[in-house]
Amino acid sequence: MTRFIFITGGVVSSLGKGLASAALGSLLQARGFKVRLRKLDPYINVDPGTMSPYQHGEVYVTDDGAETDLDLGHYERFTCVDARQSDNVTTGRIYSDVIAKERRGDYLGATIQVIPHITNAIKEFVLADLDDEDFVLCEIGGTVGDIEGLPFLEAIRQLGNELGHERAMYLHLTLLPYIPTAGEVKTKPTQHSVKELLAVGIQADALLCRADRKIPEPELAKIALFCNVGEEDVIPALDAKTIYEVPINYHEQGLDRQVCRHFGLEAPPPDLSRWREVVARVTEPEGEVTIAIVGKYTGLKDAYKSLSEALDHGGIANNVRVNLKWLDSEIFESEDAVQHLENVNGILVPGGFGERGAEGKIAAVRFARERKAPYFGICLGMQMAVVEGARSLAGIKGAGSSEFGPCEDPIVGLMTEWTKDGNLERRRADGGMGGTMRLGAYDAKLIEGTRAHEIYGTEDISERHRHRYEVNMAYEQALAAAGIIFSGKSPDGVLPEIVEIPSHPWFIGVQFHPELKSRPFMPHPLFASFIAAAIHQARLV
Ligand code: GLN
Repeated sequence: MTRFIFITGGVVSSLGKGLASAALGSLLQARGFKVRLRKLDPYINVDPGTMSPYQHGEVYVTDDGAETDLDLGHYERFTCVDARQSDNVTTGRIYSDVIAKERRGDYLGATIQVIPHITNAIKEFVLADLDDEDFVLCEIGGTVGDIEGLPFLEAIRQLGNELGHERAMYLHLTLLPYIPTAGEVKTKPTQHSVKELLAVGIQADALLCRADRKIPEPELAKIALFCNVGEEDVIPALDAKTIYEVPINYHEQGLDRQVCRHFGLEAPPPDLSRWREVVARVTEPEGEVTIAIVGKYTGLKDAYKSLSEALDHGGIANNVRVNLKWLDSEIFESEDAVQHLENVNGILVPGGFGERGAEGKIAAVRFARERKAPYFGICLGMQMAVVEGARSLAGIKGAGSSEFGPCEDPIVGLMTEWTKDGNLERRRADGGMGGTMRLGAYDAKLIEGTRAHEIYGTEDISERHRHRYEVNMAYEQALAAAGIIFSGKSPDGVLPEIVEIPSHPWFIGVQFHPELKSRPFMPHPLFASFIAAAIHQARLV
């Protein structure tokens, strides 16, 4: 029997609902339950694929090629359950499906309305594509009280009725602000937000109360009284030293116990030893390294969420703290900017889109190559590494990417055809933007004797992709003669997946996004190896 936990947020946004959901998922999993996590996003975009990382943070890509909300990254990292297309939906997707049905005549002339048509489509989404999970945790994006969230709240209200108390639970995340002049943690915003939820017919079953300091017992009792929940269902969620501590803290505060009680379930206590081990490694590192990230969206850390997590995982694998130095690549377009890279132990150019700052990225690659600093290029970072190598080592002076307009030698060009699972996929050069990239998991073959092969320890890998352009295989020989080799390719040998410079201590570019598959308990081998190379470099300087 699948049970549903609906997670809503109140008071303010950015309370870490995604992390809270992921942490609860991991606790239930540690008690032996099978879980799946889903996110319902009230915004109108059909998916986050076309949204600016500045506004919405990173676009997380699943194995099955969905462009999803970054919270799905938290879910995967905390539970190791691979997310799917069917785990994230938006108002835009719901409406476009309903409108398509209406155009086909599926509704037989009915007047299409928010209730029941939109709410039914939301309910169908929540219940679809499940495989005997014990729990589905369903996070509602936004904050209670947002206009666009109403159909989602109505849908989960109805589901609560239909499934019954024994199969549905409402968990509400709120904030208890501390007012310095009063010297008190205040409960009123929480009371109001629970009331707001009640106004749409949902009585919260438990409250997860974010606060930056201990919440006094009388305040907890007051929340229980005013919000119509049991005292044990008011669960403090205090700021943690590291995100990996969150599941441990929630457990100590009784969250998973209360969830089990709500559903009348007996379950052994969770084994949290792997979390404790990760926390110990993060809080008591044996050393530290600094990695420069030379990118475009460096002003908003969420734009590279999985990347910074994966670098942390690389640190966990090597027992070091990884300090990140975020640098806007545009600064490298002025002469003296290399000083920013002098004291770092590794340089990483992440994925990105568009011409702005591209020459700065190329300058950062050149610095790493010439100074023999560990270099890791991801997607655009690989493409820029190849352009730099082509220009500086292979003498192809006009090398560039056709993403930035016509160029003399388009070493990186628009990809219009490739194969997936034996089928030919085609794109038109003048096609639309949404959902038109090479997306999701693709296999690659690694060449024996290369560093990539040694790092992965296998010949066959599968990694997630999200790009339109591709390094052109026609330049393979010229690049190889200049010392840049393709150490991983698509199984049909048509697309380069990994490039490396064997004569450099650690210079690797990958066309895919390895950061999406790194987990705290299973750091991605490329990140573990990159950080090991940075440690080595740190000892040299
Ligand atoms: N803009 C490049 C492309 O579309 C790289 C994309 C990326 O880095 N994710 O191919």
